[in-house]
Amino acid sequence: MKILIANLGSTSVKYRLFDFSSGDGELLVRGGIERVDDHAVAIEQVQCELKEGGWIASEADLTAVGFKTIMAEGITGCLELTEEVVESMEMCNYVAPAHNPPYIRGIRLFAEKMPEIPLVGLFETAFYQWVPESSSRYAVPKSWHDAGVRRWGFHGASHKFIAERSAELLGREDVASRARNLYIDDAGSQVDGSTLRVVSCHLGGSSSVTGILNGAAIGNSMGLSPQSGLPHNNRVGDLDSMAVLHMMRRDGLSIDEVEQALCSESGLKGLSGGRNDIRDIQSAADRGDANSRLALEVFVNSVRHWIGAYFAQLNGLDALVFTAGIGENRAAIRAEVCANLDQLGIQLYPSKNNSTKAEEAVISSEDSTVKVLVIPTNEELVVAREVKRFLDNKQN
Ligand code: ADP
Repeated sequence: MKILIANLGSTSVKYRLFDFSSGDGELLVRGGIERVDDHAVAIEQVQCELKEGGWIASEADLTAVGFKTIMAEGITGCLELTEEVVESMEMCNYVAPAHNPPYIRGIRLFAEKMPEIPLVGLFETAFYQWVPESSSRYAVPKSWHDAGVRRWGFHGASHKFIAERSAELLGREDVASRARNLYIDDAGSQVDGSTLRVVSCHLGGSSSVTGILNGAAIGNSMGLSPQSGLPHNNRVGDLDSMAVLHMMRRDGLSIDEVEQALCSESGLKGLSGGRNDIRDIQSAADRGDANSRLALEVFVNSVRHWIGAYFAQLNGLDALVFTAGIGENRAAIRAEVCANLDQLGIQLYPSKNNSTKAEEAVISSEDSTVKVLVIPTNEELVVAREVKRFLDNKQN
């Protein structure tokens, strides 16, 4: 059973092919095309690469194509991407303008090119189906809430992987098993031992922090949209909603101009004055660029803010996990996030932190009561396993 996972960006198409014939998802091959102008051409190239590499003889060898879909109106979980579901995704285009449109375009192209193959999406909001209502409600009129204005949470596949893997690494198979089975079991299923409290920091081009209790999310720093929470590469993160009205009234900005400013010109790019990659921002800060230094400080401050929120909500912490591009690779950011938290039981082991790059490691000192871990995320594997589970359930 071969399942292809397609990761569709606005200018990239990446893929991983998993085989479930014997194990729980063996990665056969991965690849990607950057600087994509025409998604149709890129998808044809993926088909060619899979055939030329001998990974599939024809499209019929694929049991399904899976997608890490973002959000859809009134829908979450893992399900077949029928035209009706895709139309529900379309209804969220204004909320997720950087994410939903490329997925919708790509899914329709796959449907055209592989009409016989089921297309299945695991929505990024799915991991938050069981958060307490007090964490998902905004204090808006009921009519707004009924219109979908609530905290959804995103990066669900990544944080779910961290929930599973951190429990395994901490020797808590009971919690790992609960996390793995979350989408089929009731999240109320019990764990055998004491509670396990984890905060997962997914820091990358998009960033978010999630609190995890016994393998299930209790909340995520992103709210209604993937624009909120921490500052992102070029998207704003949390902002007082009155700022939008203020700028529209003060400078006569149109809705499109506000969207452009908040979704393309803000975040680290807005703060640093044009740089949106943390590597460039760090080099500029090291050369004395004050705006770049400030961008790093605002980012780190925001990560700490959300760690603190979940620390309180969880009544303490067993593990703090760093993942994604920045979390896995940038020791200096991890050090700044963890600085001066010894009263909360968080102490890094500096040489271990500095030598850890894109690999699993414990980077806290022996004295640290909170274990600090680096875990490379594997969102595609989570999607592939859920797609397989969806197909198995459908057959039974
Ligand atoms: P996305 O959210 O788009 O998937 P990533 O998770 O790849 O993005 O994160 C992108 C960020 O991570 C960038 O700011 C980049 O500087 C940083 N990053 C990614 N890979 C590396 C690396 N190998 N070394 C240092 N920094 C990296």
